[in-house]
Amino acid sequence: MVCQFSGIFLWHRKLLIEVPKSTSREIEEYRELTDEELRLVRWLLENGEPSARRYLDHLEDLRVVSKCACGCASINFVEESGGMKILGDFKFTHRAGGQIGVFAFAVNDSLAGLELWSIDGVNDGDEIPDPDQLEPLHFNRS
Ligand SMILES: [Zn+2]
Repeated sequence: MVCQFSGIFLWHRKLLIEVPKSTSREIEEYRELTDEELRLVRWLLENGEPSARRYLDHLEDLRVVSKCACGCASINFVEESGGMKILGDFKFTHRAGGQIGVFAFAVNDSLAGLELWSIDGVNDGDEIPDPDQLEPLHFNRS
């Protein structure tokens, strides 16, 4: 994903959705999700967009295939690129301050990744929040 590389935060977010994934910087990393990651993704699907619930079935076989190169906690579950569909858009306060956005997304009808991004540039999205910390993020998608 893009994260701090773009430097411009809300605009970055727009880029994240519109720029093909192949142009972003990612590091291959093949592993199972941690308990914290899995709990967070499940929560995002259960509490996100109404259409997100149908991706709950994908959790069973979900694997990490790559992570963002910037040091944030963003991970990808598929290698294919394409338009991102946001499945649930939330935010939390980083333990060291700053607002972090978090969302799960789909690409081509597959649950494709978990993205954490800095809303205000104060701290990187380098921690997986407890779902109790999350609040809805009302973001203008137009
Ligand atoms: Zn990143």
